Parts: sequence; structure tokens; C-alpha cells
Amino acid sequence: MINNTNEESVEKKTLNFIEAAVENDLKEGKNNSKVQTRFPPEPNGYLHIGHAKAICMDFGIAKQYGGVCNLRFDDTNPVKEDVEYVDSIKQDIEWLGFKWNNIYYASDYFQQLWDFAVALIKQGKAYVDEQTAEEIAKQKGTPTQAGTDSPFRNRPIEENLRLFQEMTDGNVQEGAMVLRAKIDMGHSNMHFRDPIIYRIIHHHHHRTHDAWKVYPMYDFAHGQSDYFEGVTHSLCTLEFEVHRPLYDYFIDELIETPELAGEAGYRPRQMEFNRLNLTYTVMSKRKLLTLVKEGLVNGWDDPRMPTICGYRRRGYSPEAIRNFINMIGYTKYEALNDVSMLEAAVREDLNKRATRVSAVLNPVKLIITNYPEGKVEALEAINNPEDENSGTHIIEFSRELWMERDDFMEDAPKKYFRMTPGQEVRLKSAYIVKCTGCKKDENGNIIEVHCEYDPNTKSGMPDSGRKVKGTLHWVSCAHSLPAEVRLYDRLFNVENPAAEQEKDFRELLNPDSLKTVTNCYVEKYLSELKPADYLQFQRIGYFNIDQDSTPDKLIFNRTVGLKDTWGKLNK
Ligand code: ATP
Ligand code: MG
Repeated sequence: MINNTNEESVEKKTLNFIEAAVENDLKEGKNNSKVQTRFPPEPNGYLHIGHAKAICMDFGIAKQYGGVCNLRFDDTNPVKEDVEYVDSIKQDIEWLGFKWNNIYYASDYFQQLWDFAVALIKQGKAYVDEQTAEEIAKQKGTPTQAGTDSPFRNRPIEENLRLFQEMTDGNVQEGAMVLRAKIDMGHSNMHFRDPIIYRIIHHHHHRTHDAWKVYPMYDFAHGQSDYFEGVTHSLCTLEFEVHRPLYDYFIDELIETPELAGEAGYRPRQMEFNRLNLTYTVMSKRKLLTLVKEGLVNGWDDPRMPTICGYRRRGYSPEAIRNFINMIGYTKYEALNDVSMLEAAVREDLNKRATRVSAVLNPVKLIITNYPEGKVEALEAINNPEDENSGTHIIEFSRELWMERDDFMEDAPKKYFRMTPGQEVRLKSAYIVKCTGCKKDENGNIIEVHCEYDPNTKSGMPDSGRKVKGTLHWVSCAHSLPAEVRLYDRLFNVENPAAEQEKDFRELLNPDSLKTVTNCYVEKYLSELKPADYLQFQRIGYFNIDQDSTPDKLIFNRTVGLKDTWGKLNK
């Protein structure tokens, strides 16, 4: 479902440089004062949070200036692409809360692009090179040294046409020939040194099937696709800045080929912003694919992955992700953003929307020795104190409860405000109890904690205002359900895995990024909830129900911990 309910609430103070440029274009009446953008993923993996930054920009600009944004799959390399990725990309964009105008595919333009390549050959601006990739790379030169011409650079137009046709017909082996634009082997921008524009790939394509044996390169496909679609502002990340002159070059060439370009009168403009990089995270699709393929994580949607589906499964909300992107903003400089900023955005958002419930992760039995056996009280628990419309739900209270083992100490230091003999604490939403001691097994392990309750201290009763320093959560033994809880930590041990060039990134994985706790108890109410529900396990953190959960085996993910003010006050 597309979520348009929580429109960006954060007021923007100043325009970012792309908004300013778009406004300026509109003021000058460029492109008939039209704004059209696209989000152009290659369907070779799942979207990650870096893509979310591009999505917020592409869809955001269109929306802000009354334009449209299309989804365009940049599907020019059939070897790596798959419909599985196409489907997941659509789902993730919708979940993030954005709606495209149309869906296009670069493969829709394969014929037009091929026709354009032929037109360039006919104008003497492209040639078939029979050298190996290594030979071509060797001739590229360096930024300060001109490249060397290919021995095939000046072959006759007729021969180029014939060979390109043979490549197209599937008569030539992969790698045996490429089509190159004939520009300038001495150009100061290396991308102009006769870039490869077509290569042979004999591989089934997820949309065009086996129709094509030659495929356009990114630089030859992207700008022209923008042009064919009517994109006015082609927004992308900084690494494409050096490609921009070539982007413009091919569009100029296209516009000068009116039988292909149609009535010109407008042209797309490429603008670049900084990529999102996060600490303790890898964002390259190639590396993420390796993690998935080698089973180092449990799939693309493993809650430790920086993918949109991973975050969704972990319990991040789309609003939290959008707020984070809004917070970090767009600049012209590469940066590394602190993942704790993302976590803070998640916490802030979930604080507003999460249902407060009780779960005991490391249980020990608490017996209220003066509470009648067999008695059960249905207490009202507030769903969310931050939201007065959130309502309440029932939590049962009885003589035997589960409490956290860590909330009891037999010999406690002075400032310990939790359960210890002689001290009063409040049981959340219920009574004040006084600890009377504990029971141990023959090995000295604590197996029960004992206390007495004061019947006049139930929430809402006369003595309910009595001051006690600690409030503990609990669940009733007879009214709780066993559960598994998955506690996630950062997937990588080092702040900037991409910077550790000399090490394989797999060596940098945090071996403790997933801790599974199996002997937990949660209140019964949780069996009615769904994976999309946001929860706060009081005093512990934000959680959601994992998709692996079944009524017989409840499984929860820790989305993010609470800001631990409780811990600071009480330890
Ligand atoms: P990767 O390098 O992770 O494989 P990519 O750039 O190849 O990513 P594409 O599917 O081609 O992935 O990207 C689609 C769009 O998303 C592009 O416009 C690209 O600039 C943008 N994008 C990709 N990664 C990031 C990122 N980390 N931050 C911001 N935008 C990104
Ligand atoms: Mg790319």
C-alpha cells in the first residue's frame, strides 16, 4: 500500500542545490517549464537505503514542482538481471511511499538505440574494434597521457556496418568485437577516448528474451533513454559527474539526427548529488549479493541488511527512513553518515507509533505470596502514551509472573532501585510490591523471587501515587506465550568497511550480529498482531513480529534499542 498519510512534517528552511537549479530552470521557462524525473535502477539486486536517497530526490523533485517521475529499469546487462529484482524494486518503492507515473525499461529503446548506433557508424562516428578488452584498456592512456588509436579505428564505414550487423545477428562470439564511438583518443576526459557503446552478450534477457545479441553500454543508453522519455532533470550520484560531458555529447549527436530524435526543443540535464554511505555498512550491490549467495546473511531481507526489504522486515517504518534522508540532505561532497543517526530517526518515529507491550527476555519466576491463588485480574494497559487515540489493551495479572532475571539482586548496592529484599517497586500497570526474598535450587541458582503486594496501590487507586523508584515489567505465567527473540547488532565490526581495501570485506563481519534468545515470554495480546505492527517491549526496545513467526512459534525482531535513560537512572 502506498502511504501518503504522513506527509513530510519537517519544514525545509533552504532549498538544496538541486531544488534551486530546478526553480531556476522553471523561472527561465526551460523545457516549457516542465519537470520530469526518473528513478533508474538496474534490476540486478534489491534496493538499499542508498537507493532510498535517490528515490526521495527523484520522486520528491517531481512532486514538489508539479512534474512526474517515472520508474525506469536500466536493464542493459541481461547477465546480472532478473524479474525477481524488478518485482522487489516496485514493491520497495511503493512501500517507501512513492508512486511512479509510468514504468519504462531501457530495453524499450533497444531498437532506437541500435538505429542511433548505425546512424553514428554511417556518419563515421563509430567503428567496430576487434581487439580484446585488455588491449583496449592498455591503449586508454592516463589522465595526463593521451591514448593510442586502435588499428581498427579507421576501417571503412561499409565494413563497420557489415560487422555491426554480424554482431547483431549473433554470428560473432562474445568479446570478439565491440562497437566504439570515434571521438578523441587524446581527450582530457578519459570517457571520451573512444568509449565502447555496444558489446556482444549471448544471454537470455528477462524482457526481450533472445531478440538481441548486442547490448548498449550505460553511457550510450542512459542519456538517450532520458531524451526519448522526456526527462528534464536526470538526477544521479556524484560518480556520474565525469560522465556528464559524454552524456551531453551523445544527446547533442542524437538531436542532430532528427529522423531519430524527432522534434527537439528540449533537452535533459544531468545533475549529481552525493551518495549515501553509512558507517558499519556495505552498500555495494555486488557485496550485498555475495553476502546473500554465500549464506553469510539469511537472504536479501535479512534484518541486518541495509536493503529496504531488510529494514522493513526489521520493523523500520518508511517514514523513519524518509525522515533520515531528509535530515542528512543532499550535497556535492561525498560523506560517511553515522548509522546511529538512522537509528535515532527510527527511534523517534517508533516512539510515536509503537504499541507498548510487555515481554520478558530472560525470565525468572516472581511469586506474589499474598495474592489469592487462582485469581486473575484484567488490567488495562495504555497502548501508547504518546498518542491519546491509541487506546488500551488488556493484560492479565495473577499470582505467578515472569520478570527479568536482571531485575533482581539478592545483595544490591545502595542505588539499586529494582527488586531486592525489603525494597518496594511498582509492577507496571499493576501494584506496588515489596520483595521478601528468593528461592534457590541445590546449586544456588535463583529459581523464584518472592514478594507481597499492596492491594491499595493498583494503578488508579488511592495509594497508587505512592513514590517508588523502580517500575518493572512482567507477564503472567498463565497468560503469556513463549517466544523467540532475535537481537541484531551491526553487521560489520569496522566503521568504514569500504575503506579497508587490503582486507576481504567478509573478514570484517561482526560474528555477533545476530543473537537468538529462545526462552522469552510475551503477553498473550501479541498473538493477535501482524508483522507490520510496530511494538515497544517496555524497558527493552522496539520490536516487530518476524515473518517467520507462526501462532505456535512466535518470533520477534529487535528493531532498535531504546535510548537507555532507564538504565542510566537505575543502575
Ligand atoms: P551499487 O553501486 O550499489 O550497485 P548502483 O549505482 O549500481 O548501485 P543502480 O541500480 O544503478 O545502482 O542505481 C539506481 C539509482 O540509485 C542511480 O541513480 C544511483 O545513482 C542511485 N544510487 C545508488 N546507490 C546510491 C547511494 N548509495 N546513494 C544515493 N544514491 C544511490
Ligand atoms: Mg548503476
